[in-house]
Amino acid sequence: PPAEDPQVVIDAHGLPYLDPELPVKRRVADLLARMTPQEKAGQMTQAERNALKAPGDIAGYGLGSLLSGGGSAPNPNTPESWAKMIDGYQLRSRAARLQIPLIYGVDAVHGHNNVIGTTIMPHNIGLGATRDPKLVERTGAVTAAEVRATGVPWDFAPCLCVTRDERWGRSYEAFGEDPALVTAMETVIRGMQGATDGRDLSRPDKVLATAKHYAGDGGTEFGSSSTGSYTIDQGITRVTRQELEAVHLAPFREAVERGVGSVMPSYSSVDIIGDDAGPVKMHAHAELINSVLKDRMGFEGFVISDWQAIDQIPGDYASDVRTSVNAGLDMIMVPTAYREFHATLVSEAAAGRIPMARIDNAVSRILEQKFKLGLFEKPYADTSGLARIGSPEHRAVAREAAAKSQVLLKNDGGLLPLKPSQRVYVAGSNADDLGNQAGGWTVTWQGASGDITEGTTVLEAMRKAAATPGSVTYSKDASAPPAGHDVGVVVVGETPYAEGVGDVGNGHDLELSTADQAAIDTVCAAMRCVVLVVSGRPQLIGDRLDRMGALVASWLPGTEGDGVADVLYGKRPFTGQLPVTWPRSQQQLPVNVGDAAYDPQFPYGWGLTTPGAPADGGESVLRALAAAAKVLEKTGAARSEAARALATKARSIVQRRMGTHPTAAAAKPFAEADHLVLTGALTDAFGKFTAAYRAAAAR
Ligand code: BGC
Repeated sequence: PPAEDPQVVIDAHGLPYLDPELPVKRRVADLLARMTPQEKAGQMTQAERNALKAPGDIAGYGLGSLLSGGGSAPNPNTPESWAKMIDGYQLRSRAARLQIPLIYGVDAVHGHNNVIGTTIMPHNIGLGATRDPKLVERTGAVTAAEVRATGVPWDFAPCLCVTRDERWGRSYEAFGEDPALVTAMETVIRGMQGATDGRDLSRPDKVLATAKHYAGDGGTEFGSSSTGSYTIDQGITRVTRQELEAVHLAPFREAVERGVGSVMPSYSSVDIIGDDAGPVKMHAHAELINSVLKDRMGFEGFVISDWQAIDQIPGDYASDVRTSVNAGLDMIMVPTAYREFHATLVSEAAAGRIPMARIDNAVSRILEQKFKLGLFEKPYADTSGLARIGSPEHRAVAREAAAKSQVLLKNDGGLLPLKPSQRVYVAGSNADDLGNQAGGWTVTWQGASGDITEGTTVLEAMRKAAATPGSVTYSKDASAPPAGHDVGVVVVGETPYAEGVGDVGNGHDLELSTADQAAIDTVCAAMRCVVLVVSGRPQLIGDRLDRMGALVASWLPGTEGDGVADVLYGKRPFTGQLPVTWPRSQQQLPVNVGDAAYDPQFPYGWGLTTPGAPADGGESVLRALAAAAKVLEKTGAARSEAARALATKARSIVQRRMGTHPTAAAAKPFAEADHLVLTGALTDAFGKFTAAYRAAAAR
């Protein structure tokens, strides 16, 4: 503890809530019984650290929580200074009568991303592509260890959005478009919190997780905002009750089962088709929060509002406060008007417009998590973990995740993997930009281009992986003469953004920038070329695909460019599968697997492999085929016998190659040559399916 810490000013003897031997529920009940209405309101108040009007407000208002929000610069920029800062706030909270510790929260959505030098994981869309729940759990554990080491016990992650329209600027925060995939990736909660019952939360390498944004954040309609613009962030999700359950609520049911400690409602509204209520802001949705989340799903943690979100509820401020708290919100991220919020909450409760039982329930939920986190016993940072921040072991997990997140969309003639001896010409806006490959929510809310933290760019990693660094030539805009090279690698994509429509740089239309298009055209005209798309969502490739030898969806791989080089150079095989559908055109949006007329450029689940992958006996190749065949049978077969015939033929190619049944455990791994033939056949068959389907549709 800091030297000034008053230690226990309250006489612990006889105060059950300070006794760590007692059951948590007992401690909660004891403490609650000692609290004044003002102290209770304080626990329900979360202020932004930069908005504190006076340091004494922490104890004065008995604030339950502080945060560093996305938009809340400046923050300290070393891990040590973060730990010191949090300790300072905890010290302030010790001056309050009951010495209830603060719970400090941050958005560590892909590693401890507010802090320079930490391990930055691929954003969730890339983690979804790995299809590897165990690996995703390990990414959660690394994040938690780095966050808690700086004294922060609470993380506003994971985002369990199911993204249904990639024009949404938060698409990359989603594991994918399929609720089953999102649900499968929720192992990340275990990585962050440990055991389901919360007994690991007091460990110095665990944090409380937040399932967000409840519910339907990824389902908002394009064009449906209060201003009538195209903005879909914070818009309206119009769904049937059945769709709401199956698509948007399912991941939260899973999170509750997994013991997630907190839930954050979505800024968006939900409009249930068939009900007469019209669009209702999720922060005011008593049915979905009180009845569904808490009563039916049995959520026992606490509900934290989103940033200033209660202000969006129609009505005056007092009505915002009582509507949200009565709807089941337990703590409000105010984040600046905390004094006003506190006063309003106290007076609404005093007037009986918020039942005292509701306040007591909210406070109990918050206190319970604070006890589980061990904050009463150890409010200060356990800095023993600081040495592991950005450590080789942590970076190795991020590197593996980056490698496994790469999705190989096309690979003509086995262009990938590259051979270390090949002379490679590298170009494009995202080849050598750490900030761009990390994306939004990195160091600052919106992220930024350039050397914003510590890590390795794709170019740097390729130079390390090549036989000699000199065999890799780099020209960002492809202006250097592209002569005498064996292969070109063009790394294009988006620049960082967070929330909104993500229209920074490229517009909301998912088009590549003109500079990126030119780089592709130049390089692909001069030599066989590989294109890597480093972006938070699919980008429209169109007919340019024909000119590319290979195409890779790299998503936002984070600080470990080495992971990308690992698959490019064959140190690891490509195994990633599309977590979202890759659209053919702008007009096609939104497009999701299961749609009636599904004709994307690449279907959900698509992903070719490279040699080394089929240690599973070729199942990875089959999986890609199955994904394509399923889609085509569904969409094409009814209308086109030709599509069905092709599907059967492609399947038989695979079975013949394997010489046995597809799933037979005894199947031998493919030889490299077999692998190439198969991948080629697969790409070819899929092209033919698509053509047949389109011809049938046109008739
Ligand atoms: C975002 C949340 C985030 C919060 C705090 C909001 O703008 O919607 O996801 O947790 O800010 O930074």
